[in-house]
Amino acid sequence: MSLLQALRRLGQGPTMQDWPGLIEAYRSWLPVSDATPVITLHEGATPLIPAPVIAERIGRGVKVYLKYDGLNPTGSFKDRGMTMAISKAKEAGSEAVICASTGNTSAAAAAYARRGGMRAFVLIPDGYVAQGKLAQALLYGAEVLAVQGNFDRALAIVREVSERHPVTLVNSLNPYRLQGQKTAAFEVVDALGEAPDWLCIPVGNAGNISAYWMGFNNYRAAGRCRRLPRMMGFQAAGSAPMVLGHVVEQPDTIATAIRIGNPVNRDKALVVEAESNGAFMAVTDAEIIEAYKLLGSGEGVFCEPASAASVAGLLKRREEVPAGATVVCVLTGNGLKDPTTAIEHNDSKFHTGLPPDTDVVAQVMGF
Ligand SMILES: *Cc1c(COP(=O)(O)O)cnc(C)c1O
Repeated sequence: MSLLQALRRLGQGPTMQDWPGLIEAYRSWLPVSDATPVITLHEGATPLIPAPVIAERIGRGVKVYLKYDGLNPTGSFKDRGMTMAISKAKEAGSEAVICASTGNTSAAAAAYARRGGMRAFVLIPDGYVAQGKLAQALLYGAEVLAVQGNFDRALAIVREVSERHPVTLVNSLNPYRLQGQKTAAFEVVDALGEAPDWLCIPVGNAGNISAYWMGFNNYRAAGRCRRLPRMMGFQAAGSAPMVLGHVVEQPDTIATAIRIGNPVNRDKALVVEAESNGAFMAVTDAEIIEAYKLLGSGEGVFCEPASAASVAGLLKRREEVPAGATVVCVLTGNGLKDPTTAIEHNDSKFHTGLPPDTDVVAQVMGF
């Protein structure tokens, strides 16, 4: 039982304000000290939502949960890493940060940097960032540089700039990012009382899968859980360097958040695959969109396309899930980030241009 659950049982009626953000909540597990200024938007503590419709499709008593990290302050798990990276940059006296981003890193970097009183520079691939994410970076006050090239090219530029100029790199090359992100694994174990059998997760730069693995291992070493999950990483078929075993020069997928051809954390992720008896597998854009729609209309959970890769992968590999297993699918980002894809890909009826007439409306409704 978590402290919050215990307090609730006692009838103390904790409010959301009792959650101090993940650095304070997991301070002893993180590389922070009294000298670290904690820059937080009270990220973390995201829900682990049962997914009965997806579980039903798998059958054999398999239990499925969604770790809905789209409910973080800027709408993706990137906030977990960014509260750490920005706090440590502030501690080191940095006045500006920079990142390359397919969108979510830039939104998180902008929000946390500005909250910490720092400048934020973000490089994005021109034309390949979902609208909500671009809106966020601009609204949070970042200086946005759209470069004609993909994420991998933008990252190469950012690395060089941060080596030559006084600006801190906050991509997942920054080791504090993964430290913050590992807290999601703590929350999963805190909620379930044990690690799941499978963890299904979308993979782009492969930082998050590495971070989860670190978190599960930290907890097991301390006796908080007894087992470790198999780590199942899913990539989009047009952008699957971990599956193919080589760099993809022109990555292509509707799931722009994982449109990455040269994963920064490739070596770490290969260790995760080997140690966890896990696997990297590809799902097509069609399978991603099918899972995306099922999550929305079946479970009532709106995630972005990249996030749905975890569920698409689980459904694709359903035969391999042991009977009675517990599976957690990580939903990395909020669906509102990318309204364009939702409006283009859904099976809902959308009756437009109706006259303001009760009888007509009732008739269209089928009454
Ligand atoms: C960043 C991101 C990913 C990929 O995470 P990696 O750590 O790069 O593997 C997946 N989904 C969403 C929504 C993201 O923002």
